[in-house]
Amino acid sequence: MAHLLLVEDDELLRDGLCAQLMHAGHTVEAVSDGDQAHRVLEATRIEGVVLDLGLPLVRGVAMDGIVVLRWIRQRLPHLPVLILTARDDIDDRVQGLNAGADDYLTKPFEMAELLARLAAMLRRSRMPAFGGNLQNDDEPQHRLRIDPQLPVAWLGNDAMELTHREWSLLTLLLKQLGQVVSREEVLALWQHQAPEGGAGSSSNALEVYVHRLRRKLQGSEFTIRNVRGLGYMLELTAL
Ligand code: CA
Repeated sequence: MAHLLLVEDDELLRDGLCAQLMHAGHTVEAVSDGDQAHRVLEATRIEGVVLDLGLPLVRGVAMDGIVVLRWIRQRLPHLPVLILTARDDIDDRVQGLNAGADDYLTKPFEMAELLARLAAMLRRSRMPAFGGNLQNDDEPQHRLRIDPQLPVAWLGNDAMELTHREWSLLTLLLKQLGQVVSREEVLALWQHQAPEGGAGSSSNALEVYVHRLRRKLQGSEFTIRNVRGLGYMLELTAL
């Protein structure tokens, strides 16, 4: 559940969206133009934005959704934004994605789809472990953060590309930072996961995954150490 900003000039649609978002457990600041959107963003900690691209002039000045989106990206680079575009307006959509929208929906859309896309977008944007902060643009490049529920991790501000197994291995190692994690422990964890790309659940496969993870952790604050005969240990690297 999140504190959302909804920017939509169509009153009927805005009220309907607002009611549905609140029904889904979110709290919502609903506004009808770009100027109000800026004011809310400056005064409130917003966790996600639903932004209509076709917004009215404000005091004679064009302030459509793209302008608002660019404004957001300059100041709040990690704030997730879902844009609403008119059907078949491909230019709008492309422009929106280029300007940094995280996702888009074309009107008319199903409310269930909006809620699902929004939930996925908010999940992706969460950076909970290791003190992640949605609005922190100065994340040290070596800093590793890991999402406890989704196969996502970040090195600095860059998302790491992890398979589900790589992520679960990293999560397990991180939970037992500085302690040995036995091969059996990892293999037991993988027993209940679908196989990936033909890789088995053998000890050999484990070595392959550790090797891949090591490569992906290069430049981070962590290294994976081989503890002969016992297993693996994640260690904090002195930087
Ligand atoms: Ca509109």
